[in-house]
Amino acid sequence: MSLLSLEAIDHDYEDLPVLRAIDLSLAEGEHLAVLGPSGCGKSTLLRLVTGLETPTRGRITYRGEDITGVPGHFGFMGQQDLLLPWKRLWENAGLALLLRGVPKADVRKVVEARLADVGLEGFADYYPHQLSGGMRQRAAFLRTSLANRDLLLLDEPFGALDVLLRSQLQAWLAEILRRENSTLILVTHSVEEALLLAERVVVLGPAPGTPLLEEKVASAGAPFDERPYLPEFLAQKKRILAALLGR
Ligand code: ADP
Ligand code: MG
Repeated sequence: MSLLSLEAIDHDYEDLPVLRAIDLSLAEGEHLAVLGPSGCGKSTLLRLVTGLETPTRGRITYRGEDITGVPGHFGFMGQQDLLLPWKRLWENAGLALLLRGVPKADVRKVVEARLADVGLEGFADYYPHQLSGGMRQRAAFLRTSLANRDLLLLDEPFGALDVLLRSQLQAWLAEILRRENSTLILVTHSVEEALLLAERVVVLGPAPGTPLLEEKVASAGAPFDERPYLPEFLAQKKRILAALLGR
């Protein structure tokens, strides 16, 4: 049984068609990247999965249960880190647990236990403005993963960062994904990022978004640092770019 499945999803905002004929399923532990031009409905797709939005047609199941339009199952991380400036790092990271009514002392313990995993050991009491961009992004990632470790939904998580930092965080995320058995949907407009972090890539066409291409990532088994230079990586990058550009 798949962990998550989207069945015959169409979505409209009022009379604007945004997504058409989306059929996707994810096995437990699988990492899927969703690529597509700006405005093709990638963020909408993630919002449908989070249940913050109800699809116009179709249904979404999680472990076989219908969760269409039901929020609260998954954590979600967007392009901006959206940390609350007046809360300390541990409160920001543990937000989902605090909202669920878990006692503060317990939340702090849970967060403390995971800070080393994201390279933030010793920073529990810092406020967001005292952290660098990369540290804030890692704190936001921790918040997402504490909300639900089963399925991570990341919407262009490194899009706002400079190239060097982005590349460091990609390596860091790849390592976390290797270590934990989390399932991932990564929305990105970077073909390279998709091929580096996922084992399967879906390309949506221009609005209304509909799947144009779905491929396994040929270089997924190779060592992370070598992937971008492999002939199969480059060939796939070229092919996917061509699909994105409508060639
Ligand atoms: P992407 O993430 O691929 O850039 P979005 O999912 O953000 O695309 O948006 C897809 C389309 O839906 C765009 O035309 C956008 O303007 C529109 N849209 C997004 N959110 C809303 C909303 N809450 N209400 C109305 N239209 C929206
Ligand atoms: Mg978007």
